[in-house]
Amino acid sequence: MAELGILGAGTMGAGIARLAGEHGVATRLHDTDAAALERALGRLPEAAAAHVRPAAALDDLAGCDVVIEAVPEDLDLKRALLGRVAAVVGDGCVLATNTSSLPVTAIAAGVPRPQRVVGLHFFNPPHRMRLVELVAGDETEEAALERAARLARALGREVIRAADTIGFVVNRVNRPFVLEAQKLVAERVASVEQLDRIARLGGGFRMGPFELQDLIGLDTNLSIQRSFWEQSFGESRWRPSPLTARMVAAGRLGRKAGRGWYAWGEDGRAQRPVDPPAPPGPDATAGQGRLVVIAGDLAIAHELRILADDAGWDVREPQDAEGEVPELILDCGAQPDEHPLQGGPQALLLADGSLAQLDPGGASVGFHALPPLAPGGVVELTRSRDSAGRAAQAAEAFFHSLGLRTEWVADAPGLVLGRIVCQLVNEAAFAVGEGVASPEDVDTGMVLGLNHPRGPLRWGDEIGLDHVLAVLDALHDELREERYRAAPLLRRLVAEGRTGVLAGEGFHRHE
Ligand code: NAD
Repeated sequence: MAELGILGAGTMGAGIARLAGEHGVATRLHDTDAAALERALGRLPEAAAAHVRPAAALDDLAGCDVVIEAVPEDLDLKRALLGRVAAVVGDGCVLATNTSSLPVTAIAAGVPRPQRVVGLHFFNPPHRMRLVELVAGDETEEAALERAARLARALGREVIRAADTIGFVVNRVNRPFVLEAQKLVAERVASVEQLDRIARLGGGFRMGPFELQDLIGLDTNLSIQRSFWEQSFGESRWRPSPLTARMVAAGRLGRKAGRGWYAWGEDGRAQRPVDPPAPPGPDATAGQGRLVVIAGDLAIAHELRILADDAGWDVREPQDAEGEVPELILDCGAQPDEHPLQGGPQALLLADGSLAQLDPGGASVGFHALPPLAPGGVVELTRSRDSAGRAAQAAEAFFHSLGLRTEWVADAPGLVLGRIVCQLVNEAAFAVGEGVASPEDVDTGMVLGLNHPRGPLRWGDEIGLDHVLAVLDALHDELREERYRAAPLLRRLVAEGRTGVLAGEGFHRHE
């Protein structure tokens, strides 16, 4: 290619220039703020600096065949700037915008020959995050998209195609990670520290939602929340969180202010409690041949049976345990007309409802966990005023014997992780159903763009879409909030028996 032009030498522009330089692409970097430009050039590693030259004026971009703008998120600014660049460069030059939240079609509308305007959305920091979202505006021509995709691939990035809709793929599908977490804290299901711990240790996320929000900045996050809300004319799933607004009003903006959900130390780290150690094991003798009854057909029941068997428990289904008193009965959604579950302390999987709904006034405890379960993972537990101490102890001891941690939280369908992850799966299902991206691209995007432990649709298939739908429907019934309505695609897949890995097919096919 000839030259790559980059407009804006801030966080993203400087990062994209570094990436391009490191890949040997001749690059011109422009910023109206001379100091910002100098700072960005001064920070480039040597290998990159050899290929990046300043562009003092827009005229210096005349020889470029792709120009990427990374100026502040302001529609009029971006439109006017690309309009001026269009007058300088040749007709074949692709004009790309790195916007996170503005419609590419709206930016293109002010630019001569809008067919060559594309969205090329990098992730922060661009030289480390391997993903780029490629977005076509209503008028964008295929040749411009191909040129932009070729550039992104030459820079070593994986390209996914996203429709020109609010937040494209990654920022949209990730909405519930922070919003649902805030809802859970507002409802006092768990504390901030506990919730982040569950997300990290139980969900495998690198960072909990509150620590992440502190890092992004609560003000930045609130403006993204507002943008989704306004652009969607009030989609209930994207209702901004009053908790975030309250923190912003108090000046607790996160790491950059030294204080957000956490206090941030001089070392640039959140001051959070040390994680409790994982229980030892499991080893094959932990269960000592004691009897545990596990009822139900969801993937989590199958997984718990395998883990318990490996840990030396005598694992049986209800029909094989009649007349004997087990150490513990785990009810993972047994049908009421099946063999009655009685004779031992019980723990109920809270997928179809909260403990209060599933066992009103009863002696059971509630639990929830999501496949895949790995040693050191987390099972959440909850108890009511009527729960038996014996059930609480038996459930804790059982999960610990499998090498799993336990966290006591307040009652709710899906408890903490289940609720967040089921909403992530749901948002991904809405996005696929609305043609925003293919299931493969959604999963790739969340893993490469945000370091999620696995794609939400693949995760949904592992959990079982019947389980995901049960949690969403229970939340919808109990909380009576529109935001928990299941995506039509999710409900249809379950109706067709395409419930995920165990069925051989869900969002994806499984051999
Ligand atoms: P930033 O504020 O760090 O940098 C913007 C730069 O643009 C500044 O240096 C500013 O001086 C310069 N600028 C302003 N007007 C200009 C003009 N007319 N011509 C040339 N330069 C001009 O912003 P950022 O965080 O790098 O974001 C840039 C864009 O990238 C935004 O559209 C944002 O939504 C998007 N984005 C940001 C992130 C992120 O995490 N920061 C991630 C993906 C996309």
